[in-house]
Amino acid sequence: MEMAGMEANAAPNRADGQAFLNQLRATFAQMPNTIPLLLFTEKSRDDVFAQANRQVIRAFRELTDKITLHEYDLSHEKARQHNVTVSPTLVIAPDQYNIRWIGAPMGEEARTFLELLLLVGSGNSNASEQSLKVLERIDAPRHVKVFISPSCPYCPQEAVNGAKAAVARPDLISLELIDIQCRPDIAQQYAAQSVPVAYANETLIGQGAQAEEVFMSSLQKLEPQTIFIPDVDAEVVETDLTIVGGGPAGITAAIYAVRSGLKTALVEANALGGQVATTPIVENYPGFTQVGGKTLVDIMVNHALEYVQIFQGEKVIDIKPGTPHEVQTTRRKFMTKTILLATGASHRMLGVPGEKRLSGRGVSYCATCDGPLFRDKKVLMVGGGNSAVTEALHLHHMGVAVTLVHRRDTLRAQEFLVKNLKESGIPVLWNTEIKDILGEERVTSVELFNNQTNETSTMPADGVFLSIGYTPAVELASKIGLELTEEGYIARDAKHRTNIPGIYAAGDVEGGYKQIVTATGMGAEAAMTIFEDIINPYWQQ
Ligand code: NAP
Repeated sequence: MEMAGMEANAAPNRADGQAFLNQLRATFAQMPNTIPLLLFTEKSRDDVFAQANRQVIRAFRELTDKITLHEYDLSHEKARQHNVTVSPTLVIAPDQYNIRWIGAPMGEEARTFLELLLLVGSGNSNASEQSLKVLERIDAPRHVKVFISPSCPYCPQEAVNGAKAAVARPDLISLELIDIQCRPDIAQQYAAQSVPVAYANETLIGQGAQAEEVFMSSLQKLEPQTIFIPDVDAEVVETDLTIVGGGPAGITAAIYAVRSGLKTALVEANALGGQVATTPIVENYPGFTQVGGKTLVDIMVNHALEYVQIFQGEKVIDIKPGTPHEVQTTRRKFMTKTILLATGASHRMLGVPGEKRLSGRGVSYCATCDGPLFRDKKVLMVGGGNSAVTEALHLHHMGVAVTLVHRRDTLRAQEFLVKNLKESGIPVLWNTEIKDILGEERVTSVELFNNQTNETSTMPADGVFLSIGYTPAVELASKIGLELTEEGYIARDAKHRTNIPGIYAAGDVEGGYKQIVTATGMGAEAAMTIFEDIINPYWQQ
């Protein structure tokens, strides 16, 4: 987010300690508005969330006197005035906006909180022109609720979308950010079992992190939109290389390309880091004995930001190959000499009845995001690979009663993980397939089939986590006529060149071993080829 010379998204990563704090101080000092905060708590519930609010706010108040804090008990007249009924609730600048935070800005959400303070302090929504046009069309109140979790890397994007809307249209749009770890009871009321999830006027408008313009459009239409077509007069950016996808392959390619002197842009619709961002622990990336997936991503992004401009939350909706190639996003158009597709892969679906209907209502594809909602509950983790075992261990350690369900009698996961699984005592249902996921409002049970005995049984469960591999994200590639391999990956030569001159591929979308370290290697190779090809274009020979 660009604002008054600083980027909230990038700044904590760049955190050069004191320099970053000074930059923050200067940014707050330039802001025209004060930011009054009202914290409502209950004496009987002075929990970690209430305390975290005080701590985080105190840290910000040390940087600026523009933030003021008043704390009230829920029984206080002020609570009635502001219609606050749950603890802790943080009401933000109530004279100007209708924004409140139920829970505390911890973990991933600290970034959201900083962005929120910057928006409110500047009085500028920082929404794109396209978004503002959509918001102008809203002519009736919208009460937005976004459910988030401190451990969810996708959540800040959706929460900030809500904040931008509420700051842009304070006359009609209100926002409640609800931390599901603090208030699982409210999440239950909405059957919100997967984060982020957004409602407006009690209607579902978005599941998962949406590109900003897609969120605004969903908010206006009061139904989830999947695509946003920008006006034709969108901004045009000229580049040597446009990278589509901000996972390890795209990030590494960006670093190599810029260091070679190429004018480069990196576009990522979703959370940066791809699958790694939701991997609980990575233990095989050289230099790190053990590192949280999101931490590793932050380190990589921090590094990349030293060189490259990242266009995050912006979805590529079309590519027109040519000279130059055109890459159309939800926000602008890149005219570029070359394109690198590092689009990675999307999680595979099981394809059984109930899966789609109960997605976000007990069916989950992200243990790090949604695990906290299932503490002390009974869930199944489906799959036998590295991801399923890592995530089963993660759930087990956070107090979820998890059972692994695998369709064969041996796991595909590495020996080290298999050993940890055995030692953890997590039960495993071998040779077992899920045939149906059952429940009305939310998952209540599953139908199991033992493929050795041919027996069918029903097992009660509160949740079903699916970690059964990935399918390559080749939608754009197919649309523009790139050749695919028999397995459905982008076909390319040893130099990562596809069949369309000037368009390249790197990372999981090419298939192969699908390790973080191989993805970064492929990204570096592709960037070096692109550099050589731009100097000496093979397509002109
Ligand atoms: P994976 O290795 O492809 O394993 C998928 C698992 O799901 C397999 O056990 C498979 O069963 C099962 N499965 C597939 N389709 C199924 C279906 N329809 N019904 C039931 N089960 C099904 O996927 P992954 O574990 O997500 O890993 C993906 C890649 O990422 C792998 O190459 C892995 O090594 C890599 N990875 C790397 C790291 C790292 O670098 N640190 C971390 C995690 C994962 P079968 O065994 O019977 O085929």
